[in-house]
Amino acid sequence: MSAGILTPKQAAFRDEYRRNIAPWYNGWGHLLSIFVPGIAVIAYCVSEVNEPTLWELLFVIPVLVFYNWNEWWLHKNALHRPIKGILMPVYHRHTHQHHVYFTAQVMTYDTNREWRIVLFPPYALLVFMLLTLPAALVLGYIWSANAGYILMMLTPIYYLNYETFHLCCHVQDNWFVRNMPLVNTIRRHHAAHHSQPIMMERNMNLTYAVADWYMGTSDLDCGLLGHLFNGYSTKHVKKEFASDQGAQLDQRAAA
Ligand SMILES: [Zn+2]
Ligand SMILES: [Zn+2]
Repeated sequence: MSAGILTPKQAAFRDEYRRNIAPWYNGWGHLLSIFVPGIAVIAYCVSEVNEPTLWELLFVIPVLVFYNWNEWWLHKNALHRPIKGILMPVYHRHTHQHHVYFTAQVMTYDTNREWRIVLFPPYALLVFMLLTLPAALVLGYIWSANAGYILMMLTPIYYLNYETFHLCCHVQDNWFVRNMPLVNTIRRHHAAHHSQPIMMERNMNLTYAVADWYMGTSDLDCGLLGHLFNGYSTKHVKKEFASDQGAQLDQRAAA
């Protein structure tokens, strides 16, 4: 692995941030506080779905496409733009902390105490589930209970997918993240997003770069399949973005 180099500013920020993590903070506790309620809601909704029709199953596709666009929109407009009010701390945490802690040159953490800067606070999933609930209830009323439960389970499914993939973007290079299709693609995609000059406008998806592809905000010049299965390859990276592509990615895997 070619190690990137921490800039003095980044090293100082990391020291300061680590010093300020509460002594009681526990990375696994943080992870479980997101995954346990998420999986519980998924399990409950799955247990309530009863012999779904084809249309109810196909309903999953537009919802996931919409969630993918949502992820793109929130990252672009709430995490990278200062919106006055309750979203301001989210902007500060992402643009001024997460993006200083991790740059395209140094994308990885050393210990799971640093999950503090990678995972969202546990209430984020709660908020997303509360926002989904009225829509799921209305859908259950006007269409079918199955459709309501399917919508309700897709929020934690998508969210846990997001947290897992984003964590995979910041772990040190290993066989799994290098070779797992989709995961390796988002790792390069997100490393390029952490390049300071382009972070406000490029590579806003954190799971599957579908919205980046059709909204024209990707650093790649290729089609949808290329955006899903690019891996670490820099072959299709537009020339203007080629210089800052994730120094810690093992380019031997790109061949
Ligand atoms: Zn990140
Ligand atoms: Zn970002």
